[in-house]
Amino acid sequence: MEIHYLTAHQLKDRLEKGQISCTEIVKSIYLRIEEVEDRLNSYIRLEKESALSRAGEVDKLISAGSDIEDFMGMPVAVKDNICTKNITTTCASRILENYIPIYNATVIDRLESRNYILAGKANMDEFAMGSSNENSYFGTVKNPWDTDRVPGGSSGGPAACVAAGEAVCSLGSDTGGSIRQPASLCGVVGFKPTYGMVSRYGLVAFASSLDQIGPITRDVEDCAAMLNIICGHDRKDSTSINMEVPDYKSFLKADIKDMRIGVPKELMVEGIDREVKEAVYRTIKLVEDMGGIVEEISLPNLEYALSVYYIIAPSEASSNLSRFDGVRYGYRNVEAESLREMYRRSRAEGFGDEVKRRIMIGAYCLSAGYYDAYYEKAQRVRTLIINDFKKAFKKFDVLISPTSPTTAFKIGEKIEDPLTMYLSDICTIPVNLAGLPAISIPAGLSGGKLPIGLQIIGNVLREDNVLKVAYSLEKAIGFTCRPGL
Ligand code: GLN
Repeated sequence: MEIHYLTAHQLKDRLEKGQISCTEIVKSIYLRIEEVEDRLNSYIRLEKESALSRAGEVDKLISAGSDIEDFMGMPVAVKDNICTKNITTTCASRILENYIPIYNATVIDRLESRNYILAGKANMDEFAMGSSNENSYFGTVKNPWDTDRVPGGSSGGPAACVAAGEAVCSLGSDTGGSIRQPASLCGVVGFKPTYGMVSRYGLVAFASSLDQIGPITRDVEDCAAMLNIICGHDRKDSTSINMEVPDYKSFLKADIKDMRIGVPKELMVEGIDREVKEAVYRTIKLVEDMGGIVEEISLPNLEYALSVYYIIAPSEASSNLSRFDGVRYGYRNVEAESLREMYRRSRAEGFGDEVKRRIMIGAYCLSAGYYDAYYEKAQRVRTLIINDFKKAFKKFDVLISPTSPTTAFKIGEKIEDPLTMYLSDICTIPVNLAGLPAISIPAGLSGGKLPIGLQIIGNVLREDNVLKVAYSLEKAIGFTCRPGL
């Protein structure tokens, strides 16, 4: 297989055997970028020069006898809402077009300590709001499987570049599905860890009680290896969990005998494509063949998850995004004649439509007269959803569902109709509301052309069960297709 399609662990193996150098890896990724990037637009910024010079340094370390750790010398794409010191971090917004952070996000520091290589900053929906990557100030990202279709969102860039061989893996952020849904539409693996397992320090906030950083990789093994690096306590994030991080790679065993797997019937309802449902039924059969026990279960309050999310997420967003006022950093309208006018015009010109829509919904839900009716009520229903999951996990080790109700849809198909677009995350949003870990793995191709994703959800801090089932199913499904781009 071409070098640009190898996984990080396969490349590590070749580095160890001296069959390849890190410089060759980086060069092959950049050759691929030159070949496909003008058709995909998955990056906002490339870091070719610094990547090649870092690769040279890593090669020197290796020839001096240094141990080769996971992701050492691996070109990684980073979603452009994760702060990288001295490198623009735009959130795909005009308002941050020229913003250069003076610090690294904690996840970046951790990767740097392992000698990773930053391939570039990946494209996304503006401020991570969207499900199709059509909301980027830097243009729509295309799906590598069919460039007339969306890659999903908001981490469309991070997912597309891993699927197309433009990076070995990437980091995304997931507030309501933004890692799992694009991973599903692009035929790669995406993981959202338990809320608090990965530091949010340096992740530009969208909805702070839901946001979580996680990896997008070519297989489950790379995903576990990346979790080993990015998970763990950080005193700079007050919601970071203070506990010892397990070795996630130790859970990669293809053994799910006697594991109990629930299928929430609310996530298999109308609106889910027939082929997507069939793929889930096929995996259920595989689980049973491997000795797992599968049963249907009802989580009645999931019905309200989307409504709850579209109150809580915009409310938190409207508050988080109030800092972008044209004063301290970011875009400023310089023609305004008064302070008020400067605020108004900077924000009106700096933010895109979807971001404005969310700010308005959020400000409305939090306003004095409506707070109890909307925000507080939503928080109460959120608790009911959490309780549904708690109950389910008394009986089951993991739950499975489709990741996305459909495969990749056409560019332009849903952009004029926000409510239909919001439905794209119906299966992933409940997981964020409850702070649970969940993965999306490829489960087949619809019509032999477009990837279908399977979601595996675990209880809080039970990444072990999620990885075990994901690893076993990945082996059983044997998805090895690559986009023919
Ligand atoms: N698509 C959802 C939204 O638009 C989720 C986004 C995300 O997870 N960042 O809010």
